[in-house]
Amino acid sequence: MQVFQEKLRAIDSGLTRFERLQTLQVNLGDRCNLSCIHCHHSASPTGTRIMGREVIDQVVRYLERHPGLTLDITGGCPELNPHFRHLVEATAGLAARRIIRSNLSIALEKGMEWLPDFYREQNLVVMASLPCYELENVEAQRGRGVYQASIEALTRLNQKGYGKDRELHLVYNPGGTAVAAARETLEQAYRQELRERFGISFNHLHCMNNVPLGRYRVSLEQTGAYQRYLAHLAERFNPDAAPGIMCRTLISIGWDGTLYNCDFNLAAGLPLRGIDGAPLRVAELAEAVRSGNPIRMAEHCFSCTAGHGSGCGGSASVRKETPTRKGSLACPPQ
Ligand code: SF4
Ligand code: SF4
Repeated sequence: MQVFQEKLRAIDSGLTRFERLQTLQVNLGDRCNLSCIHCHHSASPTGTRIMGREVIDQVVRYLERHPGLTLDITGGCPELNPHFRHLVEATAGLAARRIIRSNLSIALEKGMEWLPDFYREQNLVVMASLPCYELENVEAQRGRGVYQASIEALTRLNQKGYGKDRELHLVYNPGGTAVAAARETLEQAYRQELRERFGISFNHLHCMNNVPLGRYRVSLEQTGAYQRYLAHLAERFNPDAAPGIMCRTLISIGWDGTLYNCDFNLAAGLPLRGIDGAPLRVAELAEAVRSGNPIRMAEHCFSCTAGHGSGCGGSASVRKETPTRKGSLACPPQ
């Protein structure tokens, strides 16, 4: 398989280097109420890697000194971090945009019902994962009961004005080893199905390819499909998606304060390193965000450029998409 960097350099050598910081992504840890089979962090209810208050306060201080960034809060299930409320309240007014990545079902857990009101009060953009609009496909990835909980959470978010005067985005990922279909086709199908069945509305659908790391990698290896999936991602390399890779404008902060080019590199254990070779930490963000810094890339990067492109920012950014066959199945069975 051709090395990912070489593919990018053949397009533009600048694509393998950091451009400028736009998004600070904070991974609050690997605890989650779910244990999805496609999870690149292997998150679960027993996750123990939880970002502490000290790292969170360093993030707050950085945002105080660097206004105008996007703060992207992720996990695991970020709402389960005991300092989640503190992070959100302390960063009010410090970022141009604050995104919470939610699995939706967390808002139905006992003691977490306050979440939709809190998102609204804090003016958070909700980026909610929903792998399909079909019950069977969602539950095959996420477990029994998750579909109904997700639909109920979306209904409550709509009642709070999300999808109307507050941004509500959905995130799709394929059930199997195919790469995501064209975003526009999927979005149309999601919009129609969710509206007709449940009266649910949302702003945009973002599409992510599954990243062969964590629990998803283990499941691929167990079925002997790992190498085949990597080859498939590489074969579907789309040069038009390459300029949109998020690592050119994003830095990810891991639960222990270590810095990464993205959340996938965090899952892969590929930290940013300083000139002394030691992993960079949150206090060293100034060094991490220097324009022209090389980006650490590996074979899992092919998931960001396969098909229509993919990433934490989703594929909703402007990218050339090849037309999809008319009548093709938008949310295919697993
Ligand atoms: S994919 Fe998301 S919701 Fe599922 S286990 Fe991982 S962090 Fe939790
Ligand atoms: S996996 Fe991370 S480092 Fe690799 S291309 Fe995607 S965003 Fe960039």
